[in-house]
Amino acid sequence: MNPALLVLASIALGVLIGAGTTVAIVGARRAGVRRAAEMRPELPEVATSILDEIDTFAVILDSSLAPVYANRTAREERHIGDAELADPDFLARVRQVMSTGIPDTHEPDPNHSADTVRIHIVRFQRRFVLILAEDLGEEQRVNAMRRDFIANVSHELKTPIAAIGLLAEATQQAADEPELVREFSKSLVKESRRLGELSRDIIQLSEAQSALRPEDRESVSLRDLVRGEVDSHRSFAGQHDVELVITDDSVASEDSIILGRPTSLASAVANLLSNAIRHSPEGGRVGIGMSAERGRFTVTVTDQGEGIAPEHLPRIFERFYRVDGARTRGDGGTGLGLSIARHTMRAHGGDVDVWSQPDVGSSFTLTFPLHEASSSKGAKRIKKAKRAVRTAAERTSQSAQTPAAQAAKPPKGTP
Ligand code: ADP
Repeated sequence: MNPALLVLASIALGVLIGAGTTVAIVGARRAGVRRAAEMRPELPEVATSILDEIDTFAVILDSSLAPVYANRTAREERHIGDAELADPDFLARVRQVMSTGIPDTHEPDPNHSADTVRIHIVRFQRRFVLILAEDLGEEQRVNAMRRDFIANVSHELKTPIAAIGLLAEATQQAADEPELVREFSKSLVKESRRLGELSRDIIQLSEAQSALRPEDRESVSLRDLVRGEVDSHRSFAGQHDVELVITDDSVASEDSIILGRPTSLASAVANLLSNAIRHSPEGGRVGIGMSAERGRFTVTVTDQGEGIAPEHLPRIFERFYRVDGARTRGDGGTGLGLSIARHTMRAHGGDVDVWSQPDVGSSFTLTFPLHEASSSKGAKRIKKAKRAVRTAAERTSQSAQTPAAQAAKPPKGTP
């Protein structure tokens, strides 16, 4: 044979053998992948990467109901525990979904406090079951609180509204009796004032409960704010024959600067002052102490009133809680003042505390953290705040009233 032909023939044979081998290898690999997929099916990567990012519990089971995937939330939080996953009833539901393909959803029962988890079981790709679970406990708690609050507000509003209606009718019918008309009108004024106070406190509470956004914060000199509030309560204190005495241990105005919402802070202080005045005996004294130490500014309002019995102390900060419901309701107290104070303080990173002893008196302390000054960013903000306070102080020396006094509401029960 021609040697050149021999070379060409062997090359062609080599190519054929090579191509055949490649086809065989690729085919075998494909078959292997197919077999592997049949034995241990692959989860779609896009699905698992999405499930990894969500806060909902997610677990995927294969056709033998063995878990093949659990997302981060399931691994960390486990809204559903291992025992529940292995529960025969639960597994029967999962099996049902796997065989029929019909999704199964469990909604929590709002009347059953232990039943808080919403569960979805869905089949996908015919070979997997996805279990999604969300714990709605917090949402249920907030909804229950909202329902309670609405019920309380409606109840509180009903009394003065009904009284105003009846008094207006009675005034109409007694048109020819001036004495009666005078008496009814006096009660009308009282009831409408009560309605006004209630709506004002509801608005203040809703402001105090709303999150403090950076744009809500202004530099506030607590020292000036407290002094402004005390000044605006002097005439109310005078009507009750109560003396207001300020003790100020903070060295300079700058000691008391925080970034906060001035209207809420003014309401918190005003509520403590009006409570102390209303609960003081005639000729009594209310002390207002201010001090700045160890990164905290404290305001303490102390009275010599009837005090609060220990069993009531843990509840006085609750909305609409009154120690003597019927009596204080008549006096014009809305039962929201201390709740407004607590929400305001917590929104500002501080708190309000109480000390009280029956027949001795009560002392309420507002504590404000001043830690902003310790960070360099905070220090810059404080510097800016100080400048703003100096400018405000210059402005206030020209006009008689402080910004806090302007923001202040009239004291509770002011006739
Ligand atoms: P209210 O509008 O009724 O004053 P608060 O939330 O301000 O509501 O106070 C709740 C309850 O705590 C009041 O009804 C009152 O019984 C009691 N209380 C608050 N401050 C004092 C105080 N300084 N002395 C005695 N009791 C107080």
